[in-house]
Amino acid sequence: MTTHPNDATPAEADVVVVGAGFAGLYLVHRLRSAGLDVVGIEAGSDVGGTWYWNRYPGARCDIPSMLYSYSFDEDLVKEWDWPEKYSAQPDILAYLNHVADRFDLRRSFRFDTRVRRADFDDHTGRWIVATEGGGVLSARHLVTAVGALSKSKPPEVPGLERFAGRWMHTGAWPQEDVDLAGKHVGVIGTGSSGIQVIPILAEGAAKVTVFQRTANFTLPAKNGPIDPALVERMREDYPAEHVAARRSLFGIPAERPTKSALEVSEEERTATFTERWNRGELIGVLSSYYDLLLDRAANETAGEFVRDRIREIVEDPALAEALVPQGYAFGTKRPCLDTNYYATYNRPNVRLVNLRETPLVGITEAGVQTEAEEHPLDVLVFATGFDAITGPLTAMGIHGRDGVPLTEAWKHGPVTYLGLSVPQFPNLFTVTGPGSPSVLSNMVVSIEQHVEWISDLILSMRERGVATIEATEVAAKDWTAHVQEVAEATLYPETDSWFTGANVPGKPKVFMPYVGGVGRYRRICDDVAAADYRGFVTR
Ligand code: FAD
Ligand code: NAP
Repeated sequence: MTTHPNDATPAEADVVVVGAGFAGLYLVHRLRSAGLDVVGIEAGSDVGGTWYWNRYPGARCDIPSMLYSYSFDEDLVKEWDWPEKYSAQPDILAYLNHVADRFDLRRSFRFDTRVRRADFDDHTGRWIVATEGGGVLSARHLVTAVGALSKSKPPEVPGLERFAGRWMHTGAWPQEDVDLAGKHVGVIGTGSSGIQVIPILAEGAAKVTVFQRTANFTLPAKNGPIDPALVERMREDYPAEHVAARRSLFGIPAERPTKSALEVSEEERTATFTERWNRGELIGVLSSYYDLLLDRAANETAGEFVRDRIREIVEDPALAEALVPQGYAFGTKRPCLDTNYYATYNRPNVRLVNLRETPLVGITEAGVQTEAEEHPLDVLVFATGFDAITGPLTAMGIHGRDGVPLTEAWKHGPVTYLGLSVPQFPNLFTVTGPGSPSVLSNMVVSIEQHVEWISDLILSMRERGVATIEATEVAAKDWTAHVQEVAEATLYPETDSWFTGANVPGKPKVFMPYVGGVGRYRRICDDVAAADYRGFVTR
């Protein structure tokens, strides 16, 4: 073994898995069941990932719970009861705890441990993984299950250190209950997290001031107790619905639209959008017509439909206009599902501050200063999002062949083969990495597909006595070009969002997820495996 900055003797494992969310838990289960020696490393104190960290009031999934759960084990599907159509964070966390207990997964994890550096050792063909606190591990494979939305974006507003009140980020919400009774709470950010937390804060706090930079499109969740008939049908038909999800565009079974929004009458369009709006689905309205994410004029029909709903719900016309999203195509920032979001602005204790009109200047001792006034606050909530998709990977200090840092390899944007593998980084696999459908899908479907594909590859390498495998430069270049080409045929890249990295100052602006669809992507991955892992080289 080559020398390493940290001279502690490395513990040996076949695979190091980083992360204990949906992805890390399933990876450990699957690889361990196949007889491999697996060590999981997790920065948090327990399992859950997203659902461990995002404990803000109102946090819940926006994919139906029956589909936002594992499908790999029939008994697990049949024994777990989801309480709601879209279940809340405590229920999702309870589910992941149940999975950890059921498959005895915790014994393979080191919690409260953060990977700070990982080096590929060219001589031994192994990864040397160093953790904060001085631990070192050596493993043949390094699999990142670090999540696409796990690195909270720090608030980019000056003066926070001066603030005399309490502040928190939705992505790292305190473990204990936060008492907001009688408090004046400010919220910066109106993405999915802000849209979920604001209505609940408005019910519990004396006053809520929302600082909005960009108005978002959100649709009603129409949440409620889960339909027992649906549960019964999905259990009886298992795995039919899950198979349909795997073959679909977004990891959710849905009819494929055949019509253009522009080929039908306005009456027909409005009737279709209304029916979809009333279903309470994330992709309902967006999948009414095939060209809503392809053609500006088609998209405008759906965008205008949603804008009109906002104008109906919000009583004050000027306030409604401030909440109406403008200037980008509906669906090109990730849409949101809400419960009472727009209606919350009819409450007397809620105020909207439009940062486009009165930009944010900074944080003062008393609260938030805009160009127009100072807003005194007791509590300030940052719902400002994440350094998404690449952020958790580039923060890990990963170094490949010849000590090349991942940050250097990706300095102009991520280059991957299938979103799974990076040239010069042998035996490293990135679950839901850039260039895979990941965040453009029901992520549990995408996670299961990646975990199974990666595990099969690792097991096949063992059987064949292959020490290292890595994507070729050509395969990664071609795949990355394909990811861009498919994206450019849509409206997505036109919009600044966390999909493109535009939300993080200084981050290269590249559309990161694969928009080709979950079903198509799965077929491509399966073909690569069937063709003896075409596009990879082994040693
Ligand atoms: P995560 O759950 O993010 O877990 C990654 C783990 O890796 C974290 O616990 C983190 O602490 C750990 N980690 C990261 N870096 C290191 C390191 N260097 N060392 C040690 N540990 C590290 N997706 C959907 O499809 N539907 C939804 O409804 C949905 N709702 C969401 C709601 C919220 C509030 C958020 C933030 C995301 C949501 N997502 C949703 C996306 C969600 O992240 C995924 O669905 C899924 O939970 C990701 O699982 P994961 O295991 O890949 O990653
Ligand atoms: P987000 O979508 O990135 O939203 C962040 C918000 O903060 C945006 O409104 C952004 O405005 C604003 N913002 C960021 N920096 C700011 C600054 N310096 N000053 C003022 N405003 C600032 O983040 P998110 O809401 O946490 O959601 C991220 C993703 O997580 C979602 O898209 C979704 O995939 C997932 N999620 C899902 C759910 C769910 O319903 N299941 C809930 C939460 C999160 P701009 O748009 O102008 O940048």
